[in-house]
Amino acid sequence: MHFSRIILVALLLVGCDEQSQCNDETQNKNIVIENTHTQASSQEKDNTAPHNTEITRQTYILNKGDTLTHLLRSAGFSFSEVYALTDAIKPLYDFKKIQSHTQFDVIETPNSKTIRFATSFAQVINAKLVEESWEITQNAITTQTEKISRSFAINHSLYQAASDAEVPNNVINSAILAMSHFVDFQREIRQGDQITLNFNSETVTQDAHLFSTFSNPQQLVAISFINQGKHYKLYHYQDTFYFKDGKLAQSFLMKTPLNGARLSSNFGKRKHPVLGYTRQHKGIDFSAPIGTPIMAAGKGKILKASYSRSFGNRVLIDHGNGYRTLYAHLKGFAKGIKHGARVSQGQTIGFLGNTGLSSARHLHYEVHKNGKVINPLKMKQPSNIQLTGDDLHAFKVHINDIDKRYAVLVPDPTTDNQVLSALQE
Ligand SMILES: [Zn+2]
Repeated sequence: MHFSRIILVALLLVGCDEQSQCNDETQNKNIVIENTHTQASSQEKDNTAPHNTEITRQTYILNKGDTLTHLLRSAGFSFSEVYALTDAIKPLYDFKKIQSHTQFDVIETPNSKTIRFATSFAQVINAKLVEESWEITQNAITTQTEKISRSFAINHSLYQAASDAEVPNNVINSAILAMSHFVDFQREIRQGDQITLNFNSETVTQDAHLFSTFSNPQQLVAISFINQGKHYKLYHYQDTFYFKDGKLAQSFLMKTPLNGARLSSNFGKRKHPVLGYTRQHKGIDFSAPIGTPIMAAGKGKILKASYSRSFGNRVLIDHGNGYRTLYAHLKGFAKGIKHGARVSQGQTIGFLGNTGLSSARHLHYEVHKNGKVINPLKMKQPSNIQLTGDDLHAFKVHINDIDKRYAVLVPDPTTDNQVLSALQE
């Protein structure tokens, strides 16, 4: 308690020095985007306020290396007001998490001053100062979903072509992940291969500037890919991808749940590096730099995301069909990874580390089938997983809807090909 106060006082002092030295310059630097004076109208909520009340709104940016105290001081708040705000906001938000380039709106009426800023995508905090006390509220901003369709031919680099077509990185990565189970992107891409990606992008309907430091959530909904003359169509459905006929497009479990790793110890008998004696190695070890993202090998439900003496930080996932996967010695868990959480294939669940009974940084990966450990590299997976009955019917309704909604956006260059293949069938 004392410690945090000392830090706060130190911050205030730093803010004070800077403020006294460069007050004017900082103000100019911070204010951008909006600097509006509006006459209060019927929108003014306070009915008792005089009709010609003036409301001002200014936007301040937290520059890199600048302190929040400094910013709020330049917005006209006193030290004690800033101090009280830090305290009042604590139950809802920790100011230590604030990122540089965050924008703050300061809305001023004769009776109050309100600070408004975003804490995550579509979430804002309003801190209203009325008669020397702060009222803090958290609000959700309404969002709208934009439907986007992008088509491009691959000439040299897949990533370059995607970037030229304004496809966001996470969308092209999802597409590659979805197709990597049946297309080898290192060897099987040909000049002139054609990709169409249909995806949703969520945007806020107001105060967009407040969310400039957060990326818009995007979801890939359908992929059309012509690879060496073969036409693949995939649809995102229930957290995974299916072909048009309802067959699962992704393999059930990934053999390697991380990128850029070296296999450092195989499945089977070996001398244990810490315990020293020979015993069965029940998984496989991958070596990679500390902090390398570890992915869920398949979609499923988190059974454990906690510390154990031997496995250190470990995640256990239930994938259904009798399959479970275990990821051990993690440095830490990804956000939202806890008991009961649902994950999709390829989702980051944690980060490579060296916790528990481990002699060097590595990922220990196990696959269990009906309670017995199996070799992940040799596992025969349930293939031909196919939606049937009511599930298949619901899926068909879903993909017809998707096709209709996106067809109007961009003429699909693959249509001729589809017609052709339909004629051939
Ligand atoms: Zn191991």
